Amino acid sequence: MNPEKNEEKTNSKKEAVFQSVRGMHDILPKDGAAWMDMWNVGREISELHDFTFMETPILETLGLFEAGVGKMTDIVEKEMFVFKTRGKEDVALRPECTAPIMRSFLQNHLGHFASPLKVFYAGPMFRYERPQAGRYRQFHQWGFEIIGDGDPFYDAEIVLATLHFLSALGLKELRVKINTVGCRVCRPTYQKKLLQHYKANKKELCKDCARRYEENPLRLLDCKAQECRELLSGAPIILDHLCQACNAHLRQVLEFLENNMVLYEPDPHLVRGLDYYSRTVFEVVASDKPETALAGGGRYDYLAEFLGAGRNVPGVGVSIGIERVLEYAASKKLSIGRKDRPSIFFVVVGEEAKKKGLYLIQKLRLARVRTLESVGKKSLENQMRAANKAKAKFVFIFGQRECFEETIIMRNMDSGAQETIPLSRMVEEVKKRLR
Ligand SMILES: [Zn+2]
Ligand SMILES: [Zn+2]
Repeated sequence: MNPEKNEEKTNSKKEAVFQSVRGMHDILPKDGAAWMDMWNVGREISELHDFTFMETPILETLGLFEAGVGKMTDIVEKEMFVFKTRGKEDVALRPECTAPIMRSFLQNHLGHFASPLKVFYAGPMFRYERPQAGRYRQFHQWGFEIIGDGDPFYDAEIVLATLHFLSALGLKELRVKINTVGCRVCRPTYQKKLLQHYKANKKELCKDCARRYEENPLRLLDCKAQECRELLSGAPIILDHLCQACNAHLRQVLEFLENNMVLYEPDPHLVRGLDYYSRTVFEVVASDKPETALAGGGRYDYLAEFLGAGRNVPGVGVSIGIERVLEYAASKKLSIGRKDRPSIFFVVVGEEAKKKGLYLIQKLRLARVRTLESVGKKSLENQMRAANKAKAKFVFIFGQRECFEETIIMRNMDSGAQETIPLSRMVEEVKKRLR
């Protein structure tokens, strides 16, 4: 069968071609270099800051998120992919990864291995949101977590690792919005004050807030609905109601950030949409796009207890929204992604040369020389054009005559200089010139 003909046929029946699931997107080859760069930068930063890789499954029991993230949160109430397995188990595609990491920490007694435990994760998360520009139902997060120590030192370390990551990708003028959500001692008093403030205007709250305002009044502060935003003015702020310990914690975090010249701004309305936070919460934004959080995180000292540990295990972490970061970088024309030129473009002319050519190409690759080819283009002219387009440093031309003489033509694409070298010295000659 002629493969080209076959392809034509398939394309003419557009309606029969499968499409991706709504809200889910492909990472296309044109963005491949940026994604790889992001993984590479992330790995390097993680290593520098001493975070070890760990991974949890994409599927978890539904109960984990109900207990960890909170039943009354937007995420759990309406944004999770939930289904029953054949074994009648209620499971969910993970909407975030901090609860799973803490689950694993408790299940595997990871506290025994390090104090604190510092890990990073990277992978897809799932939320059933209304698909719109920049929002996906499957999206990717890079996260750092530090579990087992409540010292403000680690809150600051998480913020610094996040900023290091983003600036290593080329992002500039980053700002940290920071707040505290208090603790079990001071939060209830503040919540009472907040309820008093909203009580008179209860009827004007949006539907969601009216329903959950008794359960989770802090969420009223970051509700995006216009009617709720208007009620914000004059609302009491938690900074005026912190207990001594929370106050001292916040001051120390800010001091650490100041010592590191971090641009931060206190945001008394920042609460983040997850119930497990205590004390520090923060978001990282670009100065010229402060409405989009590129990363967000905070402390979660009660999460372990929510998950049934019977004790508190302090923790602090961040998740970085990969799609958001890459989209922002693209909007700023930041060149994320390796730009170094391929070393060799290998041109073969004729069947005989092609047969031997793959052996030679493999030899170069085994010697760690980045080698491209496009043998399907057949003619010398077409292959040379492809080599030009790829901006290769050198082109190897291997035709019938070279095949017979056991030589190869090496052309420097910048100078145009051309020389013939014996095949037996191919690899070492290349390496010499690439040095
Ligand atoms: Zn407190
Ligand atoms: Zn609302």
